[in-house]
Amino acid sequence: FGKLREKLTKVRETFVEKIENVISRRREIDESLYEELEEALIQADVGVAAALEIVERVRARVRELRISDPEQLKPLFREEVLRLLGTETAPLVLPDEPPAVILMVGVNGTGKTTTTGKLAYYFREQGQKVILAAADTFRAAAIDQLEVWARRAGVEIIKQREGSDPAAVVYDALQAAKARRADVVLVDTAGRLHTKTNLMEELKKLRRVAAREVPGAPHEVLLVVDATTGQNAINQAKLFGEATGLTGIVLTKLDGTAKGGVVVAIKKELDVPVKFVGTGERIEDLMPFNPEEFVAAIFD
Ligand code: GDP
Repeated sequence: FGKLREKLTKVRETFVEKIENVISRRREIDESLYEELEEALIQADVGVAAALEIVERVRARVRELRISDPEQLKPLFREEVLRLLGTETAPLVLPDEPPAVILMVGVNGTGKTTTTGKLAYYFREQGQKVILAAADTFRAAAIDQLEVWARRAGVEIIKQREGSDPAAVVYDALQAAKARRADVVLVDTAGRLHTKTNLMEELKKLRRVAAREVPGAPHEVLLVVDATTGQNAINQAKLFGEATGLTGIVLTKLDGTAKGGVVVAIKKELDVPVKFVGTGERIEDLMPFNPEEFVAAIFD
């Protein structure tokens, strides 16, 4: 937990310490203080809607508790941020019968391949047999990179040549998974957004192939978004959500970003839960997202 605190130093500085600074400069609670706090939240990338809601509820609590000292506001903010995030974690929903099939989707550069490698390691650490499918066949570099992660994680990879049909790679990987009784198949997909329609059609095709080969597949469709892009992450989630139906979000690069408040915006503006967060470039820098731990790490 101390490690998470350290990783989220930047988030704490730009989110909670900002609130503290605004509060500490004031002797009394008035309208302009609320405005400044709202502004601080928006700057911390929690999004306008969430910022308004949090301040509105803090205002109501102040009235209810008859608070007049600004110093007493911080715990109220902590409460409201946690209330908005919810206390529940959102675990992966995987089938009883293996193989579980997980599609990894997202725009290039967000950390999709890295996260796929980290997840492979995560499952392997739990004693699961993992197969990676290199379905981003558009770039040779993507296949090579996934191969490096497969080696690091100590798992098998199914790949074809650059330019081959991603659906054929998925088909191969699922056959291999059935033959070798693998527990989890992680599919790394393409993320070139400039050919948006094609990409979404390709993802739909991958879904169909998976569903045909394994009942209920894909069991999870995880969108990888980069926390450092702030509100862009929300836009990407809306785009992919409409086209492919997402079951979860992995928020990467939370370490060292000032925009970690985006996790609140995601909760407020999207129906898709954050299931994991990426906190570094190493294979073990991935953890299930736990709202209580997150809030404790930045507030306490
Ligand atoms: P892809 O194009 O989406 O597959 O992205 P990559 O997996 O190649 O990652 C892009 C860059 O982001 C690489 O330099 C990764 O090391 C880096 N990266 C990925 N996840 C994280 C993370 O959680 N934290 C940090 N600091 N860097 C990350």
